[in-house]
Amino acid sequence: MVGAQWGDEGKGKITDYLAQQADVVIRFQGGSNAGHTVVNDKGTFKLHLVPSGVFNPDALCILGTGMVIELPFLVEELEMLESRGVSTANVRVSDRAHLTLPWHIALDRLDERERGRQKLGTTGRGVGPTYSDKVARHGIQISDVRDEKRFRERVAHELITKNTILEKLGEEPLDARVVADSVLAAASKLGDRITDTLPLVERAVAKDARILLEGQLGAMRDLDWGIYPYVTSSNPLAGGAAVGTGIPPRLITRVIGVVKAYSTAVGEGPFPTELHGKEAEDLRERGQEYGATTGRPRRVGWFDAVAPRHAHRLNAFTEIAVTKLDMLGRYERIPFCTAYEIDGKLTTDMPPTAIVERAKPHYEQLPGWSRDISGITDRALLPNEAKGYLRRIEETVGAPVGMVGVGPERTATLL
Ligand code: GDP
Repeated sequence: MVGAQWGDEGKGKITDYLAQQADVVIRFQGGSNAGHTVVNDKGTFKLHLVPSGVFNPDALCILGTGMVIELPFLVEELEMLESRGVSTANVRVSDRAHLTLPWHIALDRLDERERGRQKLGTTGRGVGPTYSDKVARHGIQISDVRDEKRFRERVAHELITKNTILEKLGEEPLDARVVADSVLAAASKLGDRITDTLPLVERAVAKDARILLEGQLGAMRDLDWGIYPYVTSSNPLAGGAAVGTGIPPRLITRVIGVVKAYSTAVGEGPFPTELHGKEAEDLRERGQEYGATTGRPRRVGWFDAVAPRHAHRLNAFTEIAVTKLDMLGRYERIPFCTAYEIDGKLTTDMPPTAIVERAKPHYEQLPGWSRDISGITDRALLPNEAKGYLRRIEETVGAPVGMVGVGPERTATLL
């Protein structure tokens, strides 16, 4: 299950819904920059690291190899869940995932400061710098904590360069002992939850278990296919799910693209259907569009079919889950972007960033349904205009709508 727009499509809710029937749930990329909101019988939760499948006590919940993890933060999140009556006994952490360390967080903040007006709008959780170190072969894998002496040496060694940078930028240097102590303490709390997850995944595959792979962010933030450089440092596409979990690509049989019924984005970069002023405030308030990780007001805009179409080309969705259709309930006419106009020509293809910056949305006006649909429990009972809106999503994106969200609760999902 992957995001088909700029992130925040409502994947948390869809995962929570699907996880009720899953045997294993695995998050395959990203770190604590994710903010999935889940509303169920236990309350409202904002999860940053733990897969949204944690609410199914029978499902094994894996933080996959493709993730980057700040261990003390993970321990806090698990303690929060336990304190609210959610068992985390089934959570496992891949020992090949990379550690997000205090220098990554400091460098994330400093990098944004140095970029000035060209900042990326990151969540400041150190995710980008952790992936940079991983690719530059300076990263530290979680399994490294198992050998304390070696781990302390690795931290001290990395800090030689990292502290030089921090001090050059006017920051206090970090103390290797303090950093290592805090990670080792968190690792010891996690105990044998830290494990080689590949055999677990392999056994689940062999048993034909129902395995749900949970992505973070969306296709427009993909490192390779998104609006570079306003992207995340990993691949939130189905292809990334194979690598990030260790499941061979040809074994992935179903790919669900989560699509919000309108568009939102957190962070910088091109966003062709963006609204401003009163119209934006209205949609933002209605949809409660504030970042789950940062609390920042999200940028909002009308539905932009070019983005999820781009996502479909890269993911081959077997179905789409449309979320927040209920939020469009009060409009009489709803602008719906089917193409971009770039230099006088219409296109439905997503071009690279430098060209998207010039894109103007080409709108159709779809009839609204001017009523509240949040209580509807059967898709057949949706107003004709709402059905028409979904049909237009199917036609422009190119994949069938399999699920429709009409409210934040798990139960407000129409099949
Ligand atoms: P994620 O990061 O993709 O999981 O998205 P977020 O959780 O940040 O944002 C989605 C928000 O929309 C959350 O507050 C959800 O509770 C809420 N939500 C998800 N689906 C629906 C829906 O169909 N209708 C309504 N009204 N809210 C929804």
